[in-house]
Amino acid sequence: MLYIGSHTSYLKDKQLYGVVEESLSYGANIFMFYTGSNQSTQRFQIDHELRDKAHKLMKENGMDKDKCVVHAPFIINLANNTDNGKYNFYINFLKQELNRCIELDIRKLVLHPGSYTTLNREKGIENIANGLNIALKDIEGASVLLEYMSGKGTEVGTSIDDLKAIIDLLDSEVYKKVFVCLDTCHMNDSGVDINEIDKFLDEFDEKIGIDKIKCVHINDSYNPLGSHKDRHANLGYGTIGFDALLNVIYNKRLEGVPMILETPWINRNLKDTWAPYKEEISMIKKREFNDYINKEKASDLL
Ligand code: FE
Ligand code: FE
Ligand code: ZN
Repeated sequence: MLYIGSHTSYLKDKQLYGVVEESLSYGANIFMFYTGSNQSTQRFQIDHELRDKAHKLMKENGMDKDKCVVHAPFIINLANNTDNGKYNFYINFLKQELNRCIELDIRKLVLHPGSYTTLNREKGIENIANGLNIALKDIEGASVLLEYMSGKGTEVGTSIDDLKAIIDLLDSEVYKKVFVCLDTCHMNDSGVDINEIDKFLDEFDEKIGIDKIKCVHINDSYNPLGSHKDRHANLGYGTIGFDALLNVIYNKRLEGVPMILETPWINRNLKDTWAPYKEEISMIKKREFNDYINKEKASDLL
């Protein structure tokens, strides 16, 4: 079965209920959202009535809550501990975010491993593992999905070996609560040719184990292979191409893994901006590219 959805907005007045409504309008059967702004750690209270209404709506529409994910805000950085106060704040915030996942009953949290900045990769890896060991120690019933990154700046988690190095340092109880989220744009930008996804999955399986992949972000990329940039493009409008992405989505070895679109809104700098997800999900289901973007109107295409 195909689990396909997109990034959605979690707004104060509708919360999870709004997320489910939005997903249904795209023809999605799963979703991803941030529990507030992706740039800040400000969070508002979870309304239990809206949460319960959301789960009811999901059930009515055959949506599987266990295939849906939350994304942690970008600013959490576990890789650098030079400012101890900040490092501890991020660990604590991660713990709170995991508890929010439990409260919302959407129990997978995608996390960017972090950037080592003034330190080095090895120290960054140690700090991330240490942070996860602390944050996840007492968490029951929620897990972290470390995202595969493009390698922008000093990002960690930009190769299978990086992710393996972090995972190898986890305490055995924490190891059971840590998984991986792939991202096709990030993989392309890190130097992985998406046309050779099976080669990548072979290596992943050998080093980490394919069962650790619990989500894939499906994005095209504006930049060439190995550019270390990280700019998502709409499916079929980037350097990866629609067919290569389709091969990831329908890959037998990724069967049952949630596929989440994080492609940019169309005309996003203009007033009449709109989400591409309904079109992209329909193309995926039909397995056929359809040039739905009016290039004259779209200001920031390739
Ligand atoms: Fe991400
Ligand atoms: Fe992503
Ligand atoms: Zn990205």
